[in-house]
Amino acid sequence: MEIRRTVRVKLDVDSEAAALLEDTVDAFLWSAQYVVDHAFEGEHVTTSKTTLDDETYDDIREQTGGFNGGLVQAARNKAAEACRSVVARWKQGKAASKPEFTSPHVVYDHRTATFHDEYVTLATTEGRVRADYVLPNDACGTPHGKYLLADDYETTGAELHYRDGDWMLHIHCKREVESDTSDQAATENGTVLGVDLGVDNIAVTSTGRFWSGDEFNHWRREYEQHRSDLQQCGTRWAHEAIKAVSRTEAGRFKTLLHRIANELIAEARKTGCTVIAFEDLTGIRERTNASWGHKWAFDRLYEYAEYKAATHGIAVEQVNPADTSRRCSHCGFTDSNNRDGETFGCGECGYENHADYNAAKNIGLRYLRRTQTGGDGGAPLGVRLNSGMLTVNGGYSPGSPEAGTEVHAETRERGG
Ligand SMILES: [Zn+2]
Repeated sequence: MEIRRTVRVKLDVDSEAAALLEDTVDAFLWSAQYVVDHAFEGEHVTTSKTTLDDETYDDIREQTGGFNGGLVQAARNKAAEACRSVVARWKQGKAASKPEFTSPHVVYDHRTATFHDEYVTLATTEGRVRADYVLPNDACGTPHGKYLLADDYETTGAELHYRDGDWMLHIHCKREVESDTSDQAATENGTVLGVDLGVDNIAVTSTGRFWSGDEFNHWRREYEQHRSDLQQCGTRWAHEAIKAVSRTEAGRFKTLLHRIANELIAEARKTGCTVIAFEDLTGIRERTNASWGHKWAFDRLYEYAEYKAATHGIAVEQVNPADTSRRCSHCGFTDSNNRDGETFGCGECGYENHADYNAAKNIGLRYLRRTQTGGDGGAPLGVRLNSGMLTVNGGYSPGSPEAGTEVHAETRERGG
């Protein structure tokens, strides 16, 4: 497994280097935009990196007067990813327009940047420049000390940003850790399984299981379409047909939600949880952009989980959802900038993970705090994670490998 972290470091650059970095930002954004414009030219949006590379690389190199090949490729990757997410949104029936690159940044990797302990060298439009890190006097205990300067972490790349007059480098670091799931499950009782509900993912647990919303969202669109077709007929027959369609479709949705509820209970049992915590469903439409159909589905899922869980002696609870999507489950830092779409990146400690997974952990923690301050003797001890357990003060219980708490993609299980 891997633990990934991003450390934000301010750079100290002289005016000559700054001028080159400005040129580099311009060339990078221009290149990314060139690729996107090209991708949108045909009848379909091109999203293949190889195709886009074949079709744009030489042109960009020529038109930019030989912009660094590694940076051209990074710009192309950035453009291809932006095109893919537009197409993905279209497939979900959502609106999305052609990406525009305006925010000043450059993506670097090991070919275009070399990371040293106290400085970095960055490829620019004209050779490399050196930029010194502005580090705290005592880096011990800071993200810089723990990840950037630590021997067990290696840097994998970085993004250069220019904001409010400062050059900032967001450096990605990773550490390999041995997977340890041996102490998982059953050994500890009294843990809570946090569950985050949403549109893209119907449910995500603090143990890192994801139930995609794709199937539900697809059916829902089909159903809406079918219903509106019938409504346009306006006849009595159509009215009856709508009722029949509604019944059939509701049955189909319910079957799906029963299955997810069963799998949630199975996950709770497998990991020895005595409580499953959901966010309070009141106001969830406003918080998550969910439709009435989604709200209906969340209510059913909660209801099914509650009665199924009862037969296994597991309680199902709702907690206050305030800030659960903006709060860092690692250090507690709460800020709306922490969340960017489905990515969560803490501005304070650098913790990075899937936003829904981070929220699921916070929901579990919220329940834990509530019960512990209430002094309930039978309160659960921790939030159940992939492996190991998160305790109420954000620490990890002894013997629980930190690894399991940090990772989602590598151990992500696809439910549903
Ligand atoms: Zn944090």
